[in-house]
Amino acid sequence: MPISDKTMKLIEASSTVTKMFEEGARLKAEYGPDKVFDFSLGNPDVSPPPEFGRVMKKLTENNAVAHGYTPASGLPQVRESVAEYLSRDHGVEIPPDFLIMTSGAVGALNDILKSLLNPEDEIVVPAPYFVGYALYVLNAEGTLRSVPTKVDFHLDLQAIEAAVNEKTKAVLINSPNNPTGVVYGREELKELAGVLDRASLKIGRRIYLISDEPYRKLAFGLDIPSVLEIYPHTILVSSYSKQLSLAGERIGYLVVHPEADNAALVTKAAAVNNSALYVNAPSLFQKVVAELPGAVVDVSVYRRKRDLFCEGLQEAGYAFDIPEGGFFLFPRSPIPDDVAFAGVLMEELILVAPGSDFGTPGYFRLSFAVPEETIKGSVAGFKRAFEKVEV
Ligand code: PLP
Repeated sequence: MPISDKTMKLIEASSTVTKMFEEGARLKAEYGPDKVFDFSLGNPDVSPPPEFGRVMKKLTENNAVAHGYTPASGLPQVRESVAEYLSRDHGVEIPPDFLIMTSGAVGALNDILKSLLNPEDEIVVPAPYFVGYALYVLNAEGTLRSVPTKVDFHLDLQAIEAAVNEKTKAVLINSPNNPTGVVYGREELKELAGVLDRASLKIGRRIYLISDEPYRKLAFGLDIPSVLEIYPHTILVSSYSKQLSLAGERIGYLVVHPEADNAALVTKAAAVNNSALYVNAPSLFQKVVAELPGAVVDVSVYRRKRDLFCEGLQEAGYAFDIPEGGFFLFPRSPIPDDVAFAGVLMEELILVAPGSDFGTPGYFRLSFAVPEETIKGSVAGFKRAFEKVEV
């Protein structure tokens, strides 16, 4: 075998997603991209806000900025600006020393998982969960311990309490959630904090909470509580991928709560891993986001698409909860085998991601970060697929 066992595992872990992607590409080549209804990818399709263009222009005009390496943790003035905004947004004083600029939330997740995990250490993750987590935990040589959520996809605190053990380094949550669109409430998070306090006492070591929040600003008319405010041993990972529609530019951040157990050491470790993995976050985009504190894409565009899709799917007969944030829907598959049902939808030239990819068979995920015409054009196919499998 020319490559490592670990990489083979990574290839196997990503094989369904790759297969779906290849099959989608084949259908698009055969029928034309405009005939295929592709809901399988979470790629933001709303333009960045207008002030983004102005800042880009100012920074790039006449070679106005340097493009050299930056410190591994990011440029000091950028960390100051981002930390200042986040302190206000989260209601927790975040000194810039506890913030690292990263290559998106994925960079931040890899930094922290590499920093925390020894082989066989565990990360507890409520399912369904973002498909990338399995890869990043594996890449850090740890083990992902999946725990179920309740029927409404909110946290099953008893399941979390039962799963936590001496090997648990952290619990990893994501709200607004990909794929379910669920937003965890303040009381729910407080109860989770209680579980983690009790479990930490029991095992004699502090269990961290990693809160992955790239969809925080994409919420539909509700307030999203700050996890940092609720549990001081939180590591926040996030990005501008969705907030500013900059997913391909790879810019995000990691914050260690200043009162977290060993906060300074954890931040230092994450910075060292940041430099090992990709040297520093993209220099130009560090400067761009520093000038756009609080800027957000037009969230009403996503809300409109969500409402349009929910209406169409309801009409076609599907059961699902209305997402409170993010840009995904997670309907129940009309047959238990979600991979088979994704195949039935594919016959209608509709591409979706099976729930099994997210640790939750029996469902499928739809991204509504697509043109409205794609949503409207797909409804008849969704209906035919539903009727095909109906008994
Ligand atoms: N976490 C979740 C839950 C996501 O859905 C995504 C992207 O789809 C990421 C992290 C990665 O985001 P980023 O582009 O910031 O690395």
